[in-house]
Amino acid sequence: MSVKARMGEQTRSKILSNQEASEKLLKTTECDLENRQAIEKALQHPAAQLPPQFETHFYQHQNLHQRRYLRQVNYIGQMTFLLYFFIDYFIIPDVTTLSATLRLSAVVLALIGNYFCFKLIKDIRLLDLILPVSATLCCGIWFYILSQSQSPWISTYVYASVIFVLMANLCIQVRFRPAVYNSLVMSVLMFLGVISLTNLQDALVFMVVYIPVCLLSLYISWINTLNARHHFLRSLLDDWNFHTLQALAHTDELTQLNNRRQFVHMAEHKIHAWPKSESVCLLMFDVDFFKQINDTYGHDIGDRVLQNIADIARKEMRRKDILARFGGEEFIALLSETSLDEALMISERLRQKIAQHEMCIDKKCFNFTVSIGVSSLKPQQTDLQTLIKEADLALYQAKQRGRNCVISFDVGMPEPPKSTVKKEIKSWIV
Ligand code: GH3
Ligand code: MG
Ligand code: MG
Repeated sequence: MSVKARMGEQTRSKILSNQEASEKLLKTTECDLENRQAIEKALQHPAAQLPPQFETHFYQHQNLHQRRYLRQVNYIGQMTFLLYFFIDYFIIPDVTTLSATLRLSAVVLALIGNYFCFKLIKDIRLLDLILPVSATLCCGIWFYILSQSQSPWISTYVYASVIFVLMANLCIQVRFRPAVYNSLVMSVLMFLGVISLTNLQDALVFMVVYIPVCLLSLYISWINTLNARHHFLRSLLDDWNFHTLQALAHTDELTQLNNRRQFVHMAEHKIHAWPKSESVCLLMFDVDFFKQINDTYGHDIGDRVLQNIADIARKEMRRKDILARFGGEEFIALLSETSLDEALMISERLRQKIAQHEMCIDKKCFNFTVSIGVSSLKPQQTDLQTLIKEADLALYQAKQRGRNCVISFDVGMPEPPKSTVKKEIKSWIV
């Protein structure tokens, strides 16, 4: 695959992974051990009790996934209520006009209400209540229509009212508690409604049929809300794993800087979108006599030197710069919107800050230095590979000129006798 094609591919995958990240429920900063334990504990809880810090996330998640479904079931509920007019027409024909007027008015009002509620209300908890509340109101209307009829079928027809409690409870998706309150209100309403239409004995027989149906629908509502919480918690775990793996894949463990892979990825993206009017420079810096530091103070102290250098460099860089540990004791930084003069100034300041930094172990203090090579992107030469190669040549010159200095790339600089870096760069880019 050509460099250009691969760059295009990487840009696309970067955009995709950015999109993926923006769709995530958890932010990278929320991926700590405490949150992971809270999510796992919640998953083991029999009621999948949500940790308080994730309640808002849950409602956002539900809003994203349930909003459309809730809107649809509301319309289905309203249409069902309207279509029951045809059953009224046959069973309670004496109140056809009343039934048509009330059902049509209720549905028109509900359609308008539904439209505005879903347009204006952002809180999914409120939207989840529309169907139970409207089912209770419709149940009231239905009993009023029945109360106006003299049909002999009334005591049988009242059994159709269980459809209200079924619809209300089965469609609740976000919170279970409203289903319980709604069932209680509806049960009282039904009981009183049936008594007023028939007699106590019939009302009790009705309740014998109604209560199991109500309890079953409540149970299904509980399972629905429990599943929603489980699904949400598992999505949180997925996000946690996604961010953690991404951080592991992109970060150098010792210094917490970008690793080489991530640097190449980000720098290629940057260069690909490079406006030719903007100047971009690259710094490569390498610790001087690092082997000696390791030999004198030990590998652990060598590691701490690398961490100290990373911290100093991090402070010297701006947000838009891309800083990384490129290899063992070698660092790299891509400075955007920076002229060569500015890059040399930044490099010199960085070199001085590192040279002035003192590390003390058991009251024994020592200093360390870095050599820096600088190159800049030219309009006719816009690939990362060349930019790195030029900075590497400049770095080699800095070493040749006694170390602890900054050298910028110049055409005609001699190649190092045996360049290992070039081979490594090739393996990453081409
Ligand atoms: P120069 O001034 O020419 O760069 O000399 P140098 O001693 O810094 O360079 P050399 O390449 O001879 O040695 C680099 C050493 O860095 C060798 C390797 O063991 C050490 N090193 C590489 N990675 C790490 C690391 O992660 N931790 C520690 N402590 N040492 C490392
Ligand atoms: Mg070195
Ligand atoms: Mg080196």
